[in-house]
Amino acid sequence: MKIKSDFHIHTHNSCDEACLEYDFFARALFERQDITLGVSDHLHSLLQEKDIAASRKEFDEFKAKYPMFRKRIHFGVEASVMSKWELDKINKGQYSGDVTYGIRDNGPMNAPMELPIDEEFKEKYKIEYVITGVHWPLYCREDPLSFVKEYHREYLYAIEHPCTDIMAHYLWWNPIRGLKNVFTNTRLVSNEMRNEIKCALLEYDKAFEVNLCAVLFSKDYKDNKTWLDWYLGWVHDIQNAGVKLSLGSDCHSKHLDPNWYKKAEELFEHYKIDTEKFFTL
Ligand SMILES: [Zn+2]
Ligand SMILES: [Zn+2]
Repeated sequence: MKIKSDFHIHTHNSCDEACLEYDFFARALFERQDITLGVSDHLHSLLQEKDIAASRKEFDEFKAKYPMFRKRIHFGVEASVMSKWELDKINKGQYSGDVTYGIRDNGPMNAPMELPIDEEFKEKYKIEYVITGVHWPLYCREDPLSFVKEYHREYLYAIEHPCTDIMAHYLWWNPIRGLKNVFTNTRLVSNEMRNEIKCALLEYDKAFEVNLCAVLFSKDYKDNKTWLDWYLGWVHDIQNAGVKLSLGSDCHSKHLDPNWYKKAEELFEHYKIDTEKFFTL
């Protein structure tokens, strides 16, 4: 079950700690002749437009410098599910302090959602695909069940949005305000919820991301065999039901570690997940 693609890679242009330089892609593409890679820097609001513009410029320079890799590297973005309330405020400059990650406090409960991307933006930066990520809850009560329900609402929005091609890192937990991961308690994520996710992916024909660094190899999940059985057993089932899967390392480091792919291949073998059917462009 060889991995032949990785569509979730951040470069140093992302607004967080990501630090991979474009030239590194040449080495990765040379060393693994059968792999296709995708760049996906962060877009939370239009404040990151400059990051996407910088990344696109470097992407074009990379392709001009290494024409032999032209067909094996793609340009995408990772867009966050945001509230319309905060995006409106950011667009009008009605905020104070650092809003790199949006306005995380005091928004309306059950806030209408929005993505910081549209067709015009995609065209402007020749964006080939969009990964949509749920990165935080939008102004809900801070108890485990409320968090699970809020994330679920955002996941469905991510899948249904016409700009989304791939839903990122299902059940990744952002340790906001030091709160404990609520998704390790698998009883909180009901079968009905997972079924709704599966049906939405099928109905809207969107890909489900199998995420390495943020989910499968994260400290909360990597040694938790019961959780991995529950999660990857279900991933196997939804693939069998016709959901397209996409591989994302979610690399934020300087290099793509070949051990990630090796470890992931072992997991896919074990859970009978077919990499031949993974999302590609
Ligand atoms: Zn993400
Ligand atoms: Zn990411």
